[in-house]
Amino acid sequence: MKPVQLYRTLAEKFVFKNSFPDMLVSDSLVALVQFLFDEQEAHIVNALTFVPKPAKTIARFVNLPVEVVRPVLDALGEKCFILRLTMAGVPVYGLIPLAPGIFEFQMIKSKDDPDNVPFYREFARLFEDVYHEYLTYFKPKAEGKDLRFGRIVPVEKSIDASTGIMPLATDRYSEIVERNKSFCLVDVCACRTHQEFLGQGCGRAMHACSAMGWLADMAIDKGIARRVSREEFMEAKTAAMEAGLVNMVDNLEDPMQVCSCCTCCCGALRILKDYNIPTIIAKSHFEAWVDGDTCIGCKKCVEICPMEAISMVAETAVIDHTKCIGCGLCVPKCTKAKAITLKERYGHKPPSKDVLSYAAERIEELQGMQKSLLPRLSLGAGSLLYQLSPKQLSGPRYKPPKS
Ligand code: SF4
Ligand code: SF4
Ligand code: SF4
Repeated sequence: MKPVQLYRTLAEKFVFKNSFPDMLVSDSLVALVQFLFDEQEAHIVNALTFVPKPAKTIARFVNLPVEVVRPVLDALGEKCFILRLTMAGVPVYGLIPLAPGIFEFQMIKSKDDPDNVPFYREFARLFEDVYHEYLTYFKPKAEGKDLRFGRIVPVEKSIDASTGIMPLATDRYSEIVERNKSFCLVDVCACRTHQEFLGQGCGRAMHACSAMGWLADMAIDKGIARRVSREEFMEAKTAAMEAGLVNMVDNLEDPMQVCSCCTCCCGALRILKDYNIPTIIAKSHFEAWVDGDTCIGCKKCVEICPMEAISMVAETAVIDHTKCIGCGLCVPKCTKAKAITLKERYGHKPPSKDVLSYAAERIEELQGMQKSLLPRLSLGAGSLLYQLSPKQLSGPRYKPPKS
């Protein structure tokens, strides 16, 4: 295969061209793939899929001796460009998505690898090109699609300060955390590190990215996160909220990934704010409202609002509800006048029950397939390969209290 075709074919895998035949394969993505893999590596990696396989199988596919293929795969696994794990005592290799995946691994690794800064800087630059090119392409296609990949969880203080609302157990951070046993903090925020490489970091907390449950165990096992107690976890999250960071989790009843994000660096929140694709992340169950009679015009809420949703009209704060994501950061800032409270958001949709429903709902939405069994079956098969029951892919199940 000619190099140009080789890299294009590999780039197609990263955008799941098989499942989404109309998907753009952009020049920026081909350039990024070319940056990551030399010609021999690309030839071998072209034989990988997202379901891992042993080196022997891959070698047969590319028609090369396994003695040649295995060291190449091991070296790529070491660099976190591909997945390398052991199943039933046999090393197996598979593709990792670009994001979340290769991007996060590279940014996290960069902190302990000062000798390779030029590599990470170039990776960051190429990735930023891919990010913008795909969002420009995706924006019109996302119109009318109900994606809600992540979900905003409000600052708990803002729920406590608001009367007359009915929070669910999935709205309260402390209740979500309480249901878990394992916690980890990743001491590098991939998005803020990425922006630092581009010379536009915001300098906010780096240890705010975190996980719970099996995802925490896996991240600790892979050496990319450190185990912390429930108390330390909550302290880090509370500090992040006080620093004006937004709580974002997987859009699951029992999320595993727990981020503290800023709208200047976070890849997901930038989509909301800069690209105005409102259904990409589920807004919280609530939205903020100002009592104009009580507001004293101090503008503290305007300063903290990450979405620039609040403006002053005749010395009174006014909220643009098309922009408000219900993060609740403005509520505790209004301590003097207590003019802001949360109210339930009309039409709010609850999070998915578990990972299987989550994936199936998104794939159906993207492919326009109705109630297809295919996504569920392929995920079920995939999770069995990792020796996990599909249920284990979710956090501990939320059980509503008996009334
Ligand atoms: S999602 Fe949020 S916390 Fe996680 S890496 Fe990005 S900005 Fe940092
Ligand atoms: S913080 Fe409260 S009092 Fe100050 S401007 Fe905002 S709503 Fe008004
Ligand atoms: S107005 Fe701004 S700070 Fe307040 S909840 Fe909405 S998005 Fe968050």
